[in-house]
Amino acid sequence: LYDDFYVKSLIQTVEDWPKQGISFRDITPIFSDPKGMRMVVDAYVHRYISTDITHIACIDARGFLIAAVLAYELQKPLILVRKKGKLPGKTISQKYALEYGEAELEIQEGAVNTGDNVLLFDDLIATGGTLFAAIELLTKQGANIKEVAAIIDLPDLGGSQKLRDSDIPVFSLCAFN
Ligand code: IMP
Repeated sequence: LYDDFYVKSLIQTVEDWPKQGISFRDITPIFSDPKGMRMVVDAYVHRYISTDITHIACIDARGFLIAAVLAYELQKPLILVRKKGKLPGKTISQKYALEYGEAELEIQEGAVNTGDNVLLFDDLIATGGTLFAAIELLTKQGANIKEVAAIIDLPDLGGSQKLRDSDIPVFSLCAFN
């Protein structure tokens, strides 16, 4: 059974990292805690097992870790949305704004197709910029975004609200204000 208190107690807050003024939420202790890892994965398995999701897409790099286990459990194809320059062959890319500067995500051409129902997974939603870039790449190739899932939502940064305002359902396990 999912225990919000237990999972939140694993997440460590690191002040002023990677920059002054940022409270970084570190989820690596979830990965090193088998009980926490199982609890988190099981929460998503329970939510998505009886849905019409056909594909699971996930964002470089922490998004990969949970999504891979989920794809295995649900027996669905796993699609990698990677940082620029990591994927071979023909790719499409999307730039997006970071707090300072710019980044770029890529997927392989043909990774998803028209009519695919995609669950898009990342570890954390802040401003939503990363997820919107991934959504652009997936929808450009015809996929439907059925839901965005994350472990943590930071609602004060507005990303989850922006997604909902764009009619994209959002599911997060926990939130930090
Ligand atoms: P956004 O694009 O502003 O929503 O930022 C979300 C992306 O940045 C996700 O891919 C996260 O992995 C990463 N990120 C931002 N803040 C944190 C944090 O406090 N902890 C872990 N990852 C973070």
